Amino acid sequence: MYTQARALPLALAALLAVSSAWAADDGGAVKAQPFVVGKTVTKAVQAGITPDKAIEILKAGNVRFASNKSVSYDYKKQVGQTALGQYPLATVVSCIDSRSAPEQVLNQGIGNIFTARVAGNTVNTDILGSLEFAAKVAGSRAIVVLGHTNCGAIKGACDGVKMGNLTSLLENFMPAVNATKTDGERNSKNHEFVEDVAEMNVKLTVEKIREMSPVLKEMEDQGKIKIVGAMYDISNGKVTWY
Ligand SMILES: [Zn+2]
Repeated sequence: MYTQARALPLALAALLAVSSAWAADDGGAVKAQPFVVGKTVTKAVQAGITPDKAIEILKAGNVRFASNKSVSYDYKKQVGQTALGQYPLATVVSCIDSRSAPEQVLNQGIGNIFTARVAGNTVNTDILGSLEFAAKVAGSRAIVVLGHTNCGAIKGACDGVKMGNLTSLLENFMPAVNATKTDGERNSKNHEFVEDVAEMNVKLTVEKIREMSPVLKEMEDQGKIKIVGAMYDISNGKVTWY
């Protein structure tokens, strides 16, 4: 009881600290400052970021990464700069795959992006709640569903793998498997089929976010955020944007 009574005001204070920053952006209390590659995103920088600009920043980050020109961030300095607040410009839903970490492949520093990671980059109510917090409370301007090539989760779904809790996770991808056409085998031996299912899964996940989250749908309709899909190619480091 004692712990709960103490924890609640702290949690509320933390939430309010973020939400007041967001409200300030809308209220014009913060004078927008330009985004600078390699620098920490502040409240003033976030205030000047549009949904299109947020996506443009991520695209540019991947171009740097794929051409081996990633900027190096001063993490130690950024930890200090972000200790009292975060003002991320976007949120990325990606796979747990060790080769597809959004912060690396989009070359973003501490505090730049929220990331929700689950095998096969799908969403459930917990992830949707996280996305709603990121957009509505913390001011993130874009949601990117980032799939990747040669995805083990997608292959597992194509092959109808059954194993422990993975069985129910893989069921999330069956709509994508069933909606994907092929003249060849409908399993992971068919490389083209696997990549087509992965692309279909990204597109269906984007639709699912709009369908299952009236909060995010409304924000998108009002032009406050954009929800887009993208595919990371693990063979060359490049992201294709849908
Ligand atoms: Zn994967």
